[in-house]
Amino acid sequence: MSIKTAKFGGTSLANAEQIRKTKQIIDADPERRYIVVSAPGKRFESDSKVTDLLYLLHSHIEQNAPYGQILDLIKNRFLVLEEELGVDAGMDKEFRAFEEKLETGATVDYIASRGEYFNAKIIAEFLGYKFVDAANFVLFGDKGRFLMEETNNALKVALKKFKRAVVPGFYGTLPNGEIKTFSRGGSDITGSIVARAVGASVYENWTDVSGFLMADPRIVDCPKAIDTISYKELRELSYMGASVLHENAIYPVRLAGIPINIRNTNSPDDPGTMITAEEQIRDGRIVTGIAGNKDFTVIAIYKNMMSTEIGYIKRVLNILDDYDVSIEHIPSGVDTISLVIASRYLDGKLDDIVEDIEKKTRADSVEVYEGMALIATVGAGMAMRPGVSATLFKALYDAKINIRMIDQGSSEMNIIVGVEGSDFERAIKAIYDAFIL
Ligand code: ASP
Repeated sequence: MSIKTAKFGGTSLANAEQIRKTKQIIDADPERRYIVVSAPGKRFESDSKVTDLLYLLHSHIEQNAPYGQILDLIKNRFLVLEEELGVDAGMDKEFRAFEEKLETGATVDYIASRGEYFNAKIIAEFLGYKFVDAANFVLFGDKGRFLMEETNNALKVALKKFKRAVVPGFYGTLPNGEIKTFSRGGSDITGSIVARAVGASVYENWTDVSGFLMADPRIVDCPKAIDTISYKELRELSYMGASVLHENAIYPVRLAGIPINIRNTNSPDDPGTMITAEEQIRDGRIVTGIAGNKDFTVIAIYKNMMSTEIGYIKRVLNILDDYDVSIEHIPSGVDTISLVIASRYLDGKLDDIVEDIEKKTRADSVEVYEGMALIATVGAGMAMRPGVSATLFKALYDAKINIRMIDQGSSEMNIIVGVEGSDFERAIKAIYDAFIL
């Protein structure tokens, strides 16, 4: 029998009703043997995620402010879960130990990790699965670097002992025994690590959407869902802002050749999106998805005879490096280069950077355009196929949108265009209509 690892996110576990749905999903397929859980998320729009409450608890403690109310709020969520699910997972005792630890000094990572820990205890009890604490097997090095191979070996041995287990996501342990968390959304990473350790045939990531959509539904009306996408295509799309999955969750399963299936707990019959190692070029599909981001700034530099001056670009890049600014794209002409930078990196630095470029590189002119948007049209089916950019540019021309920048990756899997921020939504709609409708 093959094995599936299923990770459930915060909204899939927000209350007893949602947890019952996850049990139905798990029970429906005996291959779903290793379950990774997030902390309970929001039950309704204005609700708080348990993890956010835990961070708030920590900041109160740090500022010596009374924290009893917040602690009660958190405790209550788990007591109610226990009661409504009709299980005894020892929450009373767990919270007594937690309170003691808070009084004697607890790190922020320890506090933040308890959402996953308590939730996994309750869900293991409810499913009748073994609780396996990530603290003992998900390992970080001295400097907080995640130890992937050590973790894989430890988890492999630990999980082999149990046919069915629940593992809390988001955290592991430092060499000194202290808890260390991944960055926010990190339960996705734990799910990926567990899938690799047990040699799963698929890593199911259960969330509240039926996978990735071909474009942002706030811009395009009812965009089509993406049924399959390769890791590479996904990277291009998430870089531009399409996000469902933690970026670092891809690596462990990718290494082991395990596909990821994004699924919807509230609509379990939907097939969701399958993320695979190989590009699937089927049915003549050209474009897999369109994503974009507003708020880029362009610094356009002109210097006479730049093209013959050795080391010019290096000198410009060194200045950006001095200001700790990362660059998205560097389109260039004969005697010009433009630096396309996410505007948030330039807060309070832009004037100084421009002055430095003018003085230190003796540029003839440095002009700044703010408010540019970048749009990536991504698809493995675009490679080696003539006419793709013609279709793209014609769509933008017909919509009377001026293209300010063009950049095609060498893999030919991606064409990025820069347009005026105010044209952003119209441009995405036009590209979607041209390729997908
Ligand atoms: N609970 C953590 C967070 O809210 C981790 C996760 O859910 O993946 O970021």
